[in-house]
Amino acid sequence: MIDLDLQIDKLSKVGPKQAQKLEKLGIKNVRDFLFHFPARYDDLSKIKKISELKADENTTVTGKIIKFATKRSWQKRMKIIEIVLADDTGEIKAVWFNQDYLIESFSYSYNKNIRLSGKVKLDKNGFSMSNPVWEPVSKSPNHTGRIVPIYPETKGVTSRWLRWQIENIFRADFEIEDFLPKKILEKYNLPSLKKALYDLHFPASENSYLVAQKRFAFSDMFLIQLKSLQIKQNLKNENAQIFKYNKKITEKFLNSLPFKLTRDQQKAWREIRKDLNRPNPMNRLLNGDVGSGKTVVAMLASIQIAKANSQIALMAPTEVLAYQHFKSFSDFFSDFNISIGLLTASYKIIFKNGNEQKIKRDEMLDKIKTGELDIVIGTHALIQKDVAFKNLALVVVDEQHRFGVKQRAYLQQSVSNQHKSASIPHFLTMTATPIPRTISMTLLGSLDVSLIAEMPKNRKPIATSVVLPTKTAEVYEFIRQQVNKGFQTFVILPLVEESEKLADLKAVLTEHERLSQEVFPEFKLGLLHGRMKSTEKENVMEDFKNKKTQILVSTSVIEVGIDIPNATTMIIEDAYRFGLSQLHQFRGRIGRGEKQSYCFLFSKRSTKRLRVIANNLNGFKIAEEDLKLRGPGSFLGVRQSGLADATMQNITNIKMIKAANIDATKIITADPELKNYPLLSQSLKKMNREIHLE
Ligand code: ADP
Ligand code: MG
Repeated sequence: MIDLDLQIDKLSKVGPKQAQKLEKLGIKNVRDFLFHFPARYDDLSKIKKISELKADENTTVTGKIIKFATKRSWQKRMKIIEIVLADDTGEIKAVWFNQDYLIESFSYSYNKNIRLSGKVKLDKNGFSMSNPVWEPVSKSPNHTGRIVPIYPETKGVTSRWLRWQIENIFRADFEIEDFLPKKILEKYNLPSLKKALYDLHFPASENSYLVAQKRFAFSDMFLIQLKSLQIKQNLKNENAQIFKYNKKITEKFLNSLPFKLTRDQQKAWREIRKDLNRPNPMNRLLNGDVGSGKTVVAMLASIQIAKANSQIALMAPTEVLAYQHFKSFSDFFSDFNISIGLLTASYKIIFKNGNEQKIKRDEMLDKIKTGELDIVIGTHALIQKDVAFKNLALVVVDEQHRFGVKQRAYLQQSVSNQHKSASIPHFLTMTATPIPRTISMTLLGSLDVSLIAEMPKNRKPIATSVVLPTKTAEVYEFIRQQVNKGFQTFVILPLVEESEKLADLKAVLTEHERLSQEVFPEFKLGLLHGRMKSTEKENVMEDFKNKKTQILVSTSVIEVGIDIPNATTMIIEDAYRFGLSQLHQFRGRIGRGEKQSYCFLFSKRSTKRLRVIANNLNGFKIAEEDLKLRGPGSFLGVRQSGLADATMQNITNIKMIKAANIDATKIITADPELKNYPLLSQSLKKMNREIHLE
């Protein structure tokens, strides 16, 4: 028996150097080896007679080493080891390059029987394999002659080495308790933990590792559901301020709007209203496509709070967005006697009694602390330690996916700490990334979700087309006409904000220059990129908003939330380089007014993904397609979640999610603290450390 908690440096053949390398793979003790799951498998289980071999197949043969030689290649650079293997039907040559350590092994193995797996080559000299995998027949099949697991590797830690270690662990045997209740295992016919581990590392068949993967996917989902339910339960035990629906102010506000709310906006607002009217904190996600009108819903919530003399914090991911929110809140609330502050690295502005005023940071902090400001809008500058509110009752986080999980956790924590004695604020998160239902069920289960799927009625569908290089001149001409009619244009360049390097910057500058001088010499073109200071960006945006520039050339910094209804056309260059959801986000910058809008996807070739965008306007549909085409990893938050591949593959398995939810609900309802499930409770704690959920 081997102790699973044994540190790896106590194992044979694991020195301090090797231990360091293993740590990179997250392997610190024996148990971690077992939970280092294969990334894939090579089926080398079929053993063939040499005479039956076919060229190019990947297979295994067994036979006796009848010849062994070392040579040098003609350049004398490479050392070649060559053996000839024979069974009773024929011979095959195997060669290895520059693998001196094999010399000794083969000297011992000469005349002995080995298994050999690799890709078969056939030429005038007969069958051969280069760099095949081999092992003596006297050993039970590990690296050949079975379904062989291929593990995530790192320099100096090969799959071969890992297989050897893992084989030793199973050979020594170990005890491991299953955290999944027996009843659940029986209900779904799932293997026990130990059996599933064995089948993952030593599958007898494809089916046996698939069943094992299913078990781990299920148990992950089950734990995730338990955690979500626990978070929900805990929030129910927290106090929050109750806000009675202020009908009078709400109606006044609604009447002041230049539009009527859509049905989905009304529904979302009703759900939020109910939440605010409860004595425990709201934890709601407002999920609506770009331009679906989430802001006004957040305003409705804010006005209730402000009129009850409590405070609202609104966090945006960028200064540009924070500034824009500040402007539209000031505008919409101008007749409501609500004071608003903007606090970012470069802005400290307040809006009060219809006037805007720049102030110092200290003054701003003071006004937040005394409660003089009703609404404070900002970037993560809002979550600095020295920002203290008098009576913070609602936190709105816009475009949540831009915030790191850590930042969100910190915010929630710091806000909660400030309110230790009394109550914690209500939380409203807004995201413009349509999240497929399956993903939100798995990863966002602790949040209540309000969907705004329907767009305001005044929107005309955006005409989208894929434009091949031969057709770009026509598009430029079309845009010329649109601009001459007084409309504006975005040109988006395929640079991702985070990776805007100097070399990339040059490409942007060159393109801006080309468009300004060669294509549109008669127009004024703005330029926006990630290396500009916020104030510079702000000026560029202002100039575009005020129509000082007609065309805005931008990198993907433009992605979120910008609202310029007069912009009716957009070119996305090298569109194939963006993901579907991102393209959809860009496109959402246009089609915001009542005029027909056009989006042109410039691309070397028309791809399936581009056609999905061209043919779909509904963000939720596009998200589902993205999920099908690229898998769950393409969704923000999923990749960093730390979930195993098998779980990821099952993340969209509705049946499994529902089953996990039902069983988790049963357990949490009966036993919220998991007192009767110590192993489950322990696994949950471990998962909390390893897996990050929003
Ligand atoms: P997003 O959901 O992307 O944040 P916004 O809240 O910025 O969208 O709204 C986009 C634009 O639509 C804004 O100019 C807003 O005033 C307007 N808008 C919001 N709701 C409606 C509606 N029901 N009808 C018409 N326009 C609306
Ligand atoms: Mg928005």
